[in-house]
Amino acid sequence: MAIVDDAPQVDTAEEAAFRDRVRRFLEANAQRRKSKRDGDEDDLPAVDPESEQLIAQSKAYQKALTDAGLAFLTWPKRYGGAELTKRHQEIFNEEASDYELPNSVFQIGHGMCAPTILEFGTDEQRDTFLPTLMSGEKIWCQLYSEPGAGSDVASLQTRAVRDGDEWIVSGQKVWTSGAHYSEWGILIARTNVDAPKHKGITMFIVDMRTPGMEIKPLKQITKASNFNEVFFTDARVPHANVLGTVDDGWRLSVALLMNERVAIGASGGGPRGGGVNALVRSARRNGSIGDPVVRQGLADVYTLERLMGFTGQRIRAAQKAGRAPGPEGSLGKLLGAIIARRQSDLGMAIAGASSQAWSAEDHQGDRWALAVLNAPASAIAGGTNEIQKNIIGERILGLPKEPQVDREQPFKELKVGTQRA
Ligand SMILES: Cc1cc2nc3c(=O)[nH]c(=O)nc-3n(C[C@H](O)[C@H](O)[C@H](O)COP(=O)(O)OP(=O)(O)OC[C@H]3O[C@@H](n4cnc5c(N)ncnc54)[C@H](O)[C@@H]3O)c2cc1C
Repeated sequence: MAIVDDAPQVDTAEEAAFRDRVRRFLEANAQRRKSKRDGDEDDLPAVDPESEQLIAQSKAYQKALTDAGLAFLTWPKRYGGAELTKRHQEIFNEEASDYELPNSVFQIGHGMCAPTILEFGTDEQRDTFLPTLMSGEKIWCQLYSEPGAGSDVASLQTRAVRDGDEWIVSGQKVWTSGAHYSEWGILIARTNVDAPKHKGITMFIVDMRTPGMEIKPLKQITKASNFNEVFFTDARVPHANVLGTVDDGWRLSVALLMNERVAIGASGGGPRGGGVNALVRSARRNGSIGDPVVRQGLADVYTLERLMGFTGQRIRAAQKAGRAPGPEGSLGKLLGAIIARRQSDLGMAIAGASSQAWSAEDHQGDRWALAVLNAPASAIAGGTNEIQKNIIGERILGLPKEPQVDREQPFKELKVGTQRA
């Protein structure tokens, strides 16, 4: 995998006019990022972004983007896209990198659910679900993980049993990000216990307000409640909402997870937050910038951020060349998690005692303390660091695959989750 040249391209007249249109839209509808040099503290790592106010703001932004014909630039017009070229998307991304876009609540819907529906949905499903998903009118979530099925999500036990034109779903999901404010979700459930574990799973589109579904937010150490437990008790889902074919949901799930890792890995600029610049400013402010250990830590974070930037470039170049998401997404995701940990640990070390006890007006200590509490999430969400290392080992380095003794056995004979008892 060579690093492909990402050098800026000269705009044609039409592209220049499009760039101008994008600039005018962003200036009117989004907030410009604070300069990295202006000494402002606001680019310290942020946590808990999903307040009601942000959701309303995000929906308004996405609607404006859609109305302006600037949403989903390369997607079919039929669903709300603009049917423009990848070059137009690049131009939009270049301009948007200077702005804070309020779109984190759409990360799962737009980054994972929409491509899955476009690829595997029927015409009717695409016509029904894509327009409101893409315009931001409806927020979507992803119901995969269960208490006994996370890294090995194919061990899931939530059952769906066919009853005429409906499926009756029972079981429990966990860590479902945004379930409490989502209107729709993509669910995977076991539909055939006689088949091996990867072959008896079906993917469904579920209305999050279906009777028989109970959503319970989980409280995190950061005080936020970004994800939930979701309980299904005989919840009825129409057969028309099966995505792909019955028992073939694993293939679709893998495609969705690849999109997730690539979306995280391609972001390319390190974890959310100000990166090394925020650390440098904190160190300058309290005089620790001369400390050789601090300087070593800063060099370390800077180097990792550059590496992540190059990995992001490589992923974007592969996408530009029309290649399907590959294992480089795992590399980007792993780097992002390592940076989040190193950056927050160093930030806390620089802040010193003020990261343990701070005054109300001090936004140095509390932000770094929260960043430390938030950092483990990026090493788990979207597949843990260990799982990314397994993928890199097997698919990039060509190491032998992990033994999978349960691959051909009927699911009902496996000792997984509560079947262990
Ligand atoms: C912030 C956040 C948001 C999330 N959002 C969602 C969501 O929206 N929807 C959803 O469905 N899920 C979501 N998840 C769940 C996430 O996908 C799982 O937590 C993750 O896949 C790990 O599963 P687990 O927690 O069950 O841990 P386990 O799989 O039980 O792993 C426990 C430990 O064992 C290690 N381990 C497991 N298997 C192996 C192996 N084969 N080789 C080496 N080590 C291994 C793991 O790395 C880990 O350290 C979210 C998680 C977080 C933290």
